[in-house]
Amino acid sequence: MSKVYFASRRAEYADSVMDKVNNLIDRVNIKDGIDDNDSAAIKLHFGEPGLTTYLRPVLVKPFADKIKAAGGRPFLTDANTIYHGPRSDGVSHLETAVKNGFSYTVTGAPVIIADGINGEDYIEVDVPGKFYDKVKIAGQAHRAKAMVVLSHFKGHEMFGFGGALKNIGMGLAAKEGKLSLHSNIKPKIKKGNCTKCGSCIRYCPAGSIKMTEGGAQIDSAICTGCGQCLMVCSYHAVKIKWDMDFSEAQKRTAEYAYGVHNPKKGKIWYFNFLLDITPECDCYPYSDSPLVADIGILASADPVSIDRASYELVKAAPSLNNSKAEGLKEGEDKFKGGHPQTNPEPIFKHARDIGLGEDDYELIEI
Ligand code: SF4
Ligand code: SF4
Repeated sequence: MSKVYFASRRAEYADSVMDKVNNLIDRVNIKDGIDDNDSAAIKLHFGEPGLTTYLRPVLVKPFADKIKAAGGRPFLTDANTIYHGPRSDGVSHLETAVKNGFSYTVTGAPVIIADGINGEDYIEVDVPGKFYDKVKIAGQAHRAKAMVVLSHFKGHEMFGFGGALKNIGMGLAAKEGKLSLHSNIKPKIKKGNCTKCGSCIRYCPAGSIKMTEGGAQIDSAICTGCGQCLMVCSYHAVKIKWDMDFSEAQKRTAEYAYGVHNPKKGKIWYFNFLLDITPECDCYPYSDSPLVADIGILASADPVSIDRASYELVKAAPSLNNSKAEGLKEGEDKFKGGHPQTNPEPIFKHARDIGLGEDDYELIEI
């Protein structure tokens, strides 16, 4: 049974939330896992512009300070999205991070986007999976010697909740990996939208796109599903069907999470922030009312246990009026208020089955 440390959101003059964060970092003992000069990634989500409930940048600084005190070199990181938007390439992603407050003066660490400008930087990692024997992990995240994973715990349409497993499994998958987590099929080009600009042909690494009279066309026999064409088309002509069964997507994500976690065992720690527990993930450009009141912060070396403990704490909490969970009782899954069809159990079971962590925990309140 893995240990999960818990600090309540309640605070007072001599025991602020910042004090609690510092205590949690000491309890999981990141100091002993960081060697002199270790590069140490702080994995987080910089928030979509318009969202107001992403992890507060001031809460990141204690992690940068503790890593530096242990002799490490911290940097903040995330990988690019596959959908078009303000985090889909390394330049706009970095700009979004700074605009949302993740600047060096606030956090004490620079931002390095983990998979490069166009998502081209990744490393293949062996995993003992049912769906994959290799996963494609964002290069700078994999190369970092140590990692702390900071997760804003909230709802998610595909997973039920978004926590540590989703943060590393989906979050650090390179574009090709993200595509394979969302869809079983290759992209297609919608003829009416294609202006024949040719960008996708120039960027396609497999040479699988050709221009026809009606517009660009993908040869799905050659296409590797890397997702580059999705990103470079400015006319929204490249489409994928987001049709993966949620249960399978969860299991695939667990295998990607394994590919991030396993090479860093003993040098990777997880912190879940059960604050602003909103119904949707941080990729949406808005924040709805929280489902339950703030609960606190959890820390563990086990990504499965910390998510299980976080999920159970949210279930046990009373739902808030004027939220999507209004009317749900203590003990009921509050995330069902946002996504009634989504069941998060497959990711727990598969993560445990492949040896990523334990689906059980000992909760230690500090
Ligand atoms: S980038 Fe988009 S608009 Fe340009 S040729 Fe390719 S599909 Fe058509
Ligand atoms: S997904 Fe990648 S390989 Fe397939 S057509 Fe698009 S750019 Fe080419």
